Formats: sequence, C-alpha cells, structure tokens
Amino acid sequence: MSGLERAEVFHELSRVLRDHADELAEVMTREGGKPFIENHDEIGWTAACFDYYGEIARDSIGYLPAPIEPQQLALVVKEPVGVVACIVPWNYPLLLAAWKIAPALAAGNAVVLKPSEESPLATRRLAGLIEVLLPDGLLQVVYGAGEVGEALVQHEGVDMVAFTGSQETGRRVGMIAAGRLIRANLELGGKDPFIVCDDVDVEVAAQGAVWAACLNAGQVCTSAERFYVMKPIAGDFVEAARSFVEGLEIGDPMDRATDVGPLINEKGREKVERHVGEALHGGARLVTGGERWGERGFFYRPTVLTGLGPSMRVMREETFGPVVPVVEVESLDEAILMANSVPYALGANVYTKDFENMLRCMRGIRAGTVWINDPLTDNDAAPFSGQRGSGTGRELGREGLEAFQETKHVHIDPRVERKEWWYPYSRKDEGQDPM
Ligand code: NAD
Repeated sequence: MSGLERAEVFHELSRVLRDHADELAEVMTREGGKPFIENHDEIGWTAACFDYYGEIARDSIGYLPAPIEPQQLALVVKEPVGVVACIVPWNYPLLLAAWKIAPALAAGNAVVLKPSEESPLATRRLAGLIEVLLPDGLLQVVYGAGEVGEALVQHEGVDMVAFTGSQETGRRVGMIAAGRLIRANLELGGKDPFIVCDDVDVEVAAQGAVWAACLNAGQVCTSAERFYVMKPIAGDFVEAARSFVEGLEIGDPMDRATDVGPLINEKGREKVERHVGEALHGGARLVTGGERWGERGFFYRPTVLTGLGPSMRVMREETFGPVVPVVEVESLDEAILMANSVPYALGANVYTKDFENMLRCMRGIRAGTVWINDPLTDNDAAPFSGQRGSGTGRELGREGLEAFQETKHVHIDPRVERKEWWYPYSRKDEGQDPM
C-alpha cells in the first residue's frame, strides 16, 4: 500500500475505535478492573496513536545523505523488519498494543500480537474491529500465557519482538532474542521518583502525587512509587496527601464516580501487602490505608507511609499498587541522588516553579521521561522509553517508528566506468618513484 492509503486505513481504524469506545471500555473494565473512566480515556489515546502513525509514516521512508562524488546518488531507505511479535501486559492492554502495532504496520511489517492472559477479551474485541480493515492476515492475534509468548520469540518466522512487561520476563525475552540475533524492543517496569520542592503549592503537589501513585490502583509502569519532599513542606505534604487519599472513592470500577478500583489479581495484591508489611515491620509509619478493602475483589486501600529507609523493598522494587511512601530530603541534590539510586529509570516527576531546579532535574535524573508539574502525561509525538533496568525500547514519536524499521544504504553511480583505485596497484605508481 502507498503511505497515503495506509494513512486512510489508520484514520478509519481510529474512527471505528472511537465509535466503539463505550463498548471497549466496558469489556476492559469488567476484565481488568481499571475504572471505566480511565479505560474510556485509554481508547481515545489508542485511536490517537493510529492517527499519528498513519501520518508520520508517510514522510519517514528515508533520506538523502551527501554522496561521495557529486555525480552519484546516496539513499538511506527505511524498510520493514518483517514479522513482528508484539507481547503486551494487561494494565493498558489496548494502548500498549497500539504503541506497537500502529508503528509496526505503518512501517510495513506484519504483526502477531499476544495479549496478556489477564486481558484477552478486550484485545479480541479490538482485533475483531480492526482486522477487517487490514489486508488479510497482516495482523494476527494468538492467546495464551508466558509459554505462548516464549514460543513466539523463539519462532524462526519472527524477525523482531516488541515486548512490554516486567523486568524479569523482559530479561528472558531479551536473552532469547539475543541468541537468535533478532531485534528486541524491551519496555520494562519502573520505580519512578516524584520530587517536590518547597516553592510549590503543597495541596496541588500532594493531589498530583496521589493521582500519580493511585491511577489504575498504582498499576501503571510509570506510577510514581517514591516521593522525595523538601523538609520545610514535608509535614504539610503528608497531611495533604492523607486527607486527599481518604476522600477517594474506592469500589465498583463500572461506577463513573469510582476513583480507585481493584488490583488485577490476588498475586498483585499480596505483593503490595508484602512491601507495605515489610516497611512497617522495619520501622515505617502508617499514615493511612495499609489494608484490604471490601469483601469481594482484590481491593487495597490507598496507603501513605513515612519513616522509610532506602533499602526497604517498597523504596527499591516495583510495588505496582496504590502506595505513597514519603521521604523527607534536605536538598534537591539529595533528592536527585535518591531518584537515581535504584536499578530502574523509566519516568520521573518533579514539582517546582524554579527554572534552575527544572534544568537541574532534567539533566540530573536518569529516566526516559521527566515530567515537570504535570505527572504522567504521554505525548504521541515524543518518545516513551526506559533507561537502565527499565529497558531498551523506544515507543511513540519518530523513534517509535524507527524501532520497527530496517535501514538500508543504497549507493548509485550512474556512470559505468573503471575506478582509478582498483587493481593493479602498480598502475597507480606509474612514473613515480616508490621511495
Ligand atoms: P509480565 O512480564 O508478567 O507479562 C507481560 C507479557 O509477557 C504477558 O503477555 C505475558 O503472557 C508474557 N510473557 C510471560 N512470560 C513470557 C516469556 N517467558 N516469554 C515471552 N512472553 C512472556 O508483566 P505483566 O504482569 O503482564 O505486566 C506488568 C509489568 O509490565 C510491570 O512490571 C510494568 O511496569 C510493566 N509495564 C511496562 C510498561 C512500559 O512501557 N515500560 C508499560 C506497562 C507495563
């Protein structure tokens, strides 16, 4: 297909998704427990991703570098990689699928998509809506758990794997891909820091903090999971966070007024309990929450903790639950040092009005994204990626398209003539004294 035809198909896909937003959001909510409002937003973002890649792929087919000689032509041609296996988690099942399949298809690849075993139904509905608009067989979906994903990564027909999931699984996928010498785009977990300077409105920063920690019950790869607050405002910040958390509506995720729904499963809830329990055992103070909620479902009350040590699991490992652990810091340098102290580097948040502080954080924090005064806002036109233990992947933006393209250099000399630097070398020296 031409780029223009592809763009038209993508815009049609986007329209279909928007037309079915209520239905898709309901399936996602009943299946995964994320509040309906958040799932509805996810459909909007998913549709926007198809619009974006439909357009930018049209003018991303390569470029002309300067040739070696003026009569020659050098081309850098961007080509599809081949068949891409896209393996996604359950927390944003359709968005994370779109961040892979939209650029992969726009770049001319074929896709085999494997959703998480926790979210097959939403993906099945999505595929049902969009497969009919695509050439037959270009997008296929296989369902199953880890062994199905692994079989895909190992399959000789697969030329590239685009994976989003945990660090542990990502390491395994990366090792198999390295053994096969195929490309692996790995988007892994995080333990995002959230720094609050003492020049901001504490109420606003605390509300932003709680939202960044509790969105999707804390099950976002870029959930804020560690809070470093400047000493002069730390007490007020904790109090504001406590009061905001205690006002949140927990309950049925289909209810439009619900702020926080359940966790995905019992295993997920037990991990949160383990992290909080170990912190309390180690001397942390429970400000609010710290317990299960309700009789049915995997609910956990949004929790605020203080008195934490850097070696506690809740400060080092991905918790993936609605927890706000707050640490007092003396200076921005200390906050940046703490921000960089864990083996993850996905996102980071900062609250400050001071431009110099913004620049120091921008330069000093190791992360794929630094959000200043607007937590967790993704932008289709800018890359989303992890550094260090958060992966090697690039999604969104031009980088997110290039991730699915091969690069070929074509060197053209329209003149068919002998080059003076060929054999025999003795001709080169004719008439010259070799010494
Ligand atoms: P997971 O690693 O358990 O599973 C992710 C996907 O990989 C699933 O589809 C699963 O079936 C599949 N899988 C499992 N074992 C496999 C194997 N051996 N080979 C191939 N595929 C295999 O992760 P999860 O619990 O579904 O998702 C939560 C994790 O995802 C968290 O760590 C979260 O931070 C991360 N995440 C990262 C991003 C990002 O963009 N960086 C976005 C969302 C979620």
